[in-house]
Amino acid sequence: MHPGIEPLLDRLGVADHLHAAGYVRHTEVWSGWGGAMQFVPYGEDANGPWQGYQAIRADFDHRLLESARTRGAHVLAGKVTGVLFTTSDEVAGVMTSEGLVQATYVIDCSGGSHTLARHLRIPMMRYSPQLVARFGYVNGCFNHPSPSICSDQDGWIWIAEVEPHRYQWTRVTEAHNRPDLTWIPYGFRDSEAESSRSADVTWRLAKTVAGPGYFLVGDSATVLDPSSSHGVLRAIMSGMMAAHLVIQRLCHEADAQMCARSIKSG
Ligand SMILES: Cc1cc2nc3c(=O)[nH]c(=O)nc-3n(C[C@H](O)[C@H](O)[C@H](O)COP(=O)(O)OP(=O)(O)OC[C@H]3O[C@@H](n4cnc5c(N)ncnc54)[C@H](O)[C@@H]3O)c2cc1C
Repeated sequence: MHPGIEPLLDRLGVADHLHAAGYVRHTEVWSGWGGAMQFVPYGEDANGPWQGYQAIRADFDHRLLESARTRGAHVLAGKVTGVLFTTSDEVAGVMTSEGLVQATYVIDCSGGSHTLARHLRIPMMRYSPQLVARFGYVNGCFNHPSPSICSDQDGWIWIAEVEPHRYQWTRVTEAHNRPDLTWIPYGFRDSEAESSRSADVTWRLAKTVAGPGYFLVGDSATVLDPSSSHGVLRAIMSGMMAAHLVIQRLCHEADAQMCARSIKSG
């Protein structure tokens, strides 16, 4: 994750949890974008160099969820299967495998499956050719600069040591150049590789990202290929902005109701 996420995690009160997680930190990326490898530092301020996190995603998600739970969030594990509407067609909640959930606002963070956009028939506008990310992990000892990003005529490869002796790789190409299921980056071919997976990372943006009773945030609203490592940062930042707007709106409505009551009572 890009270092820009740190102030957001601080603001959410979870930065200390993440320091405790002991994720590998890095102050720069090795870039071979169209030329020889060079060392590109993130930058620094009075507190020292900015550092990214090699977060283990399942652990990171678990820590954020636990933090929300301890602050009073009620967490249901069901799948969203439909949308509830008011009589004036405003979004009023969701149908889930655990039952109906009514809500003044629905904030959709369902990622690239674009759940709410699909149910509301919001078009996803595409801004790149169809791009596919194939990704996987290899275990072993390698003398590879980490993290690194290199481009070639068909796409690019990202490689990062995410835990001691465990490397994550991502290969992004246009769909017609996607590597086969057994492909792993050159240099890792004699190593112990876990099976790889793929994801559609075509650049896309929902035509509408907010409307009566709902917001789309993170990948649910917009997807870019992960070359800039900003996806998690964008997801958290847009989620915080949606929450801020919901609170503002609810406070405004509560103020207006109090005002109306005090006018009525003279
Ligand atoms: C190969 C690859 C490498 C990447 N590398 C980086 C990187 O280095 N740094 C970075 O910042 N970003 C990276 N990204 C991008 C990043 O993963 C995403 O931008 C980010 O995860 C978006 O977060 P999100 O919460 O919006 O969506 P997601 O992380 O996709 O989470 C969506 C969640 O919603 C759940 N869901 C979906 N549909 C439903 C439903 N109907 N009901 C209930 N739940 C549902 C899903 O199961 C999932 O848990 C990478 C992406 C890929 C594919």
